[in-house]
Amino acid sequence: MAKKIFRAICLVAALVLVCSVVLLTGVLYYTLENQTVRILKNDAFYLAEALEHEGVSYFDSLTGRDTRITLVSAGGDVIYDSVADPASMENHLDREEIQEAIKTGVGTSSRLSQTVLEETIYVALRLDDGQILRVAASQRSVWALLLTALQPAALLAILLLILAAILAGRVSKRVIAPINELDLEHPENNEGYEELAPLLTNMARLHRTIDRQLEEARQKQEEFQVITDHMSEGILVIDTATNLLSCNGAALRLLGVDRIPENPSVLALNRSEAFRAAMEEALSGKRSEKILETGGKTFQIMANPVFQDGKTAGAVLLVVDITERAQREALRREFSANVSHELKTPLTSISGFAELLKSGVVAPQDVQDFAQSIYDEAQRLIHMVEDIIKISSLDEADTPRDIEPVDLYDLALQETQRLRPAAEKNQVTLSVLGGAAELQGSEQILREMIYNLCDNAIKYNRPGGTVDVIVTAGDTVKLIVRDTGIGIPKASQSRVFERFYRVDKSRSQDVTGTGLGLSIVKHGALFHNARLTLESVEGKGTTVTVEFPKGN
Ligand code: ADP
Repeated sequence: MAKKIFRAICLVAALVLVCSVVLLTGVLYYTLENQTVRILKNDAFYLAEALEHEGVSYFDSLTGRDTRITLVSAGGDVIYDSVADPASMENHLDREEIQEAIKTGVGTSSRLSQTVLEETIYVALRLDDGQILRVAASQRSVWALLLTALQPAALLAILLLILAAILAGRVSKRVIAPINELDLEHPENNEGYEELAPLLTNMARLHRTIDRQLEEARQKQEEFQVITDHMSEGILVIDTATNLLSCNGAALRLLGVDRIPENPSVLALNRSEAFRAAMEEALSGKRSEKILETGGKTFQIMANPVFQDGKTAGAVLLVVDITERAQREALRREFSANVSHELKTPLTSISGFAELLKSGVVAPQDVQDFAQSIYDEAQRLIHMVEDIIKISSLDEADTPRDIEPVDLYDLALQETQRLRPAAEKNQVTLSVLGGAAELQGSEQILREMIYNLCDNAIKYNRPGGTVDVIVTAGDTVKLIVRDTGIGIPKASQSRVFERFYRVDKSRSQDVTGTGLGLSIVKHGALFHNARLTLESVEGKGTTVTVEFPKGN
C-alpha cells in the first residue's frame, strides 16, 4: 500500500510538472505573439504615414530593421518588398492577412517558416488608396519555445521528482502508519481514520460472529469428546478419502494405538483385511459388520455410511471388544463337546455291565460286584450331571442370586460336618479353625466352594493325613483349605481349575471325581471378586486360599 501511495504521488507530481511546462510555454508564446502583433501594428501605422508623405523611397532609407515591408496593390500584385524582388513574387491576394485587411482594414496572420522552429507574423494595413501595406517579422515558433524550455524543464523535473519522491516516501509512511498500527484483534478500540470506522465496525461484528461460532463448535466437540470418551466402544469418524476426522480414546485403546498417527488415513490404525473391508463397504454406502482378531483380542467392527445430500460423505466405525463373549462361546462349545464325551464313558460302562448281566455269562457270585460297578458308574454320572448343572448355572451371568450377609465360618462348620463320614473313611482328621467371618455373598455358591475344596483335600489325602479349614476375618475374609495329601505336580497346577481336567487319570483312578470341582470353585471366586491361589508340593500337600475383598 505504501508503495502504491508513493507511486501515485510521484505520478501526480510528474503530471503536474509536464502540464505546468506545457501551459507556461503556451501562455508565454501567446503573450509573445500578441506583443509582436502590437509592435508590427504600430510599425505599419507609422510606415503608412511615412509612405503617404515620402513615397516608397522612404522604405529604402530604412536599413538594419528586422521587419520585412511589402506593398501590395489592391489587385494583389506586389509593388514593393524589402527583401525580395517584387517582379519575382506571386500575387498576394489570397493571403489571409491581405484578405482580412481588405475586408476590415487591418489583417493579421502567422505562418510557419521553412522550419517548424520559426514562424512569421504578418500585419496588413489597407491604405486610403486601396493599396495594402504589410509588415512581417519572424520569431521563434511555439515548438522552438518548447524546445528551449525543455532543458531547464528537464533539470527542474529531476529536482522536483527527487523532492516529490522524498516527500512521497514520508507522506506514504505517515498515511500508512495508523493502518499498520490497527489492532485487528480488537477492531473497535482503534482510533485513526474516520473513513475506516465502518470497516472496523464490520470487522468487529465478524470477529464476534466467528468467536461465537468457534465457541459453539468447541463446545460441541467437547460434548462429543466427553460422551465418546466415556464409552467402552471405540468410535471412528472418517471421510470418503478414509481420513480420520474424529475418534475417541476407546478406539485407540482397543486398536492398541497410544496416539493418533501422523498419517491421516484411518488405515494407519489398523491394516487388517476385516477392518479395511468393513470401511470400504461402508464408504460404498452399505452397512457392514466384521470380526477383527488382533493382539489376542476379538473385536466386532460395525461400519455405517454417513449420507449427505443423498451421497456418501463418510462413515462411522464402531469397535466393540467381544473377546470375552467370543471366549465364552468357544468355552461353551468346548464344554459341550467335553460333556458329551465325559457322560459317554460311565454310560458305556453301565451299558457294558448290564449287557453282560443280561446275557447271563456272569457267574452268580459276581453279580453283586457287577451291580456295584453299575451303581458306582451311575453315581459318578449323577455327580457329573449335578456338577454340570452347577457350572452351567454359574456360567449364566444373569441368573438372579440372593446376596446376603453370610458367616463363612458357620458355613465351613456345616459343610465339613457333611464330609465327616468321608474323612473318617479315608482316615483323615478334619478340623475347622478361625472364627466368625461375615461377608456379603451367595450362601449356596460359598457352600459349594467349601464343599469342593474340602472334598478334594480329603479325597487326595493319605491315611493319617489332616485337613485344616481356616477362616479368618481382617482387612479381607480368607478361606484356607490346607491338606497333607498327595499334592499336585507343578505342571498341572495351572490347569486344575480347567473344566474336566484331572491331574493323572491313573493316579486318581480309585478316586471318584468329575474334573469339575475346582472349576466350580474358580467360578465362585470370580462371582465374589475373590482372589484364588493354590500352593502345592507333590507328596506333601496342597493349600488353596480364597481371599474375599472387603465389602463383599
Ligand atoms: P475332581 O472331580 O477330579 O476332583 P477337581 O476339579 O476338583 O476334579 O480337581 C481337578 C484335579 O486336581 C483332580 O483330579 C486332582 O488330581 C487335582 N486335585 C484337586 N485338589 C487336590 C488336592 N487337594 N490335592 C491333590 N490333588 C488335587
